Amino acid sequence: MARIAFIGLGNMGGGMAANLAKAGHDVRAFDLSDDALARAESAGCLRAADAATAVEGAEAVVTMLPAGTHVAQTYAAILPACAPGAVLIDCSTIDVATAKRVATQAVEAGFLAVDAPVSGGIAAAAAGTLTFMAGGPADAFERAEPFLSAMGKAVIHAGPSGAGQAAKICNNMILGATMIATCEAFGLAEKLGLSAQSFFAIASVSSGQSWSMTSYCPFPGVGPDTPADHDYQGGFAAALMLKDLRLSQQAASDAGADTPMGAKAAELYERFVREGQGGKDFSGIIELLGTSTSVRA
Ligand code: NAD
Repeated sequence: MARIAFIGLGNMGGGMAANLAKAGHDVRAFDLSDDALARAESAGCLRAADAATAVEGAEAVVTMLPAGTHVAQTYAAILPACAPGAVLIDCSTIDVATAKRVATQAVEAGFLAVDAPVSGGIAAAAAGTLTFMAGGPADAFERAEPFLSAMGKAVIHAGPSGAGQAAKICNNMILGATMIATCEAFGLAEKLGLSAQSFFAIASVSSGQSWSMTSYCPFPGVGPDTPADHDYQGGFAAALMLKDLRLSQQAASDAGADTPMGAKAAELYERFVREGQGGKDFSGIIELLGTSTSVRA
């Protein structure tokens, strides 16, 4: 079993670090929050005094931080302290440019590095059923893969450095846009006199089918149990969807890609969050679109 440093023990990182400890690894954990550290300790991790101490002697270093600035600051602090041959695995969702830059810094300092953002929320992090999309050279991916497997159900090598982040934001751009399209369709169906239940029964087996429709239906009372059935509490916060859509739009602008649907989705989530709904599940945007979700099927 390996010594692993884990930095960032929030909603996602807490469960992920716990799963590495459960798999028998020696996990040295650090977070700025004392509460997060205490939870990690009770889940079998060892508390480190700071990020640089956590990485001492570690074979693998996992970071799960809010955004690119946190990752860049943390890498600056830990690179001088990492053990020779260590693999650095950043699982945070961050911008492609920062992901590539910190990986280059790690490689220049003599380490292996992968970006490995995740699909799946807090429940999947706790259950060890995340999907990881990893970017980096083959040797770095091979070193990271067993650690990622201990935290997830699927680990996919997306390509070179930054490819994991690219896959993540492209995936979530589809998700944001299809969720809005699904919400709009429920609103129109209702205005045309179709019950939500009938529309779901048809669209879920027709060409309008998508994950947003069949696995995460935004209309309450139809389809599987989703945040729509719990007043849009829990699930994937609209503020996080907005963060990912902004990253996609930044990347599109940098790469010269035309993404009008992604841009519109970002604009609508921007409005939803500005109206104070950022803590709601992202499917709650159905309310912004004027669909009467009080009409149960
Ligand atoms: P979170 O805010 O719950 O956790 C982040 C943790 O990082 C906090 O505990 C914070 O104290 C800690 N932190 C911040 N700066 C630090 C530093 N310099 N050193 C040490 N610790 C520091 O966020 P989260 O929901 O766990 O998300 C983490 C990442 O995962 C984000 O990039 C997010 O976009 C991504 N993500 C989240 C979800 C989700 O459903 N929550 C799903 C997929 C991906």
